[in-house]
Amino acid sequence: MTGPDPGRAVSIGIDVGGTKVLGVALAADGRVVSEHRVPTPSGAAELIQSLLDVVGVLDALTGLADLPVGVGAPGMVTRTGEVLFAPNLAGAHHLALAQRLAHGLSARRRLMVDNDATCAGWGEVVHGAARGAGDAVIVTLGTGIGGGIVTGGQLLRGANGFAGEIGHMVIDPSGPICPCGRAGCWERYASGSGLGRLARDAAHAGRSARLVELAGGDPESVRGEHVTQAAGEGDPGALEVMDRFSWWLAAGLANLANAFDPSVIVIGGGLVEAGEILMGPTRRDFLALVEAGSTRPGIGILPAALGERAGAIGAAALAADGPAGRDGHGRGRGPAGQ
Ligand SMILES: [Zn+2]
Repeated sequence: MTGPDPGRAVSIGIDVGGTKVLGVALAADGRVVSEHRVPTPSGAAELIQSLLDVVGVLDALTGLADLPVGVGAPGMVTRTGEVLFAPNLAGAHHLALAQRLAHGLSARRRLMVDNDATCAGWGEVVHGAARGAGDAVIVTLGTGIGGGIVTGGQLLRGANGFAGEIGHMVIDPSGPICPCGRAGCWERYASGSGLGRLARDAAHAGRSARLVELAGGDPESVRGEHVTQAAGEGDPGALEVMDRFSWWLAAGLANLANAFDPSVIVIGGGLVEAGEILMGPTRRDFLALVEAGSTRPGIGILPAALGERAGAIGAAALAADGPAGRDGHGRGRGPAGQ
């Protein structure tokens, strides 16, 4: 075979999650050529080594050396690839991730480090549900809430790289304490763990026997996935919890739409598997909450297309699109800064 192989990997992307490190080798058309995952270790040195190991395995699987590497990490990631503050990843404060990774990689290899949700957002815009959208907000519901904001076809990064920390918009100053140290952040209500909290409130109040049953009889053990299951069975108490959850989700989405005027909002994370039980009430409440909902052009609210791989695919796409050579030890300018 002559000429470039369309199935050939052009970059590596790695998503650092709370429980797993997921790496992919990505072809130019967005296909995942190879994949490797390991549990997220605790400790900074262990994390760096895990990332280098994943790169090594993907190099071996693809048979290619020195592919560009993009890494998506949770929390506030600076423009030089330092994880400044990561409330949902223990031991990662002030971690010079890009710099320390660079020490373990060939100098010929392009390296970019960005926020995980920013990477996931870019993945959905380049290869997923928001493909082709110039103005999009991508919201990832997990332990917390991550955001990727694309405006005018470019990722919004902000002065320091911290743009898109949408989970920590305060929507109720008298609300529950957040891992970030403040009270009433949006992710306390509208993330996977927020759904669990709303469900436990309902279980303790005796509003859903089915939720308690699914949790093995203990209201305190109720989790978000129990709500999804019970709501799917038609349990009225679980459907009510999902309704309350959808309102909180829609309230934050409306704020984001008012601020960024996207044509599409993509919702990612495991909760999306709830399907219309989640999306239906969210669309309804969004329309009521966004400014001029009945008058303005419609804003599509769509489930994400790339699933758990969105962050890794987006990180790989960012690395592939970055400038040639290494831009310092941090991430290159990428699509937003060109
Ligand atoms: Zn917070």
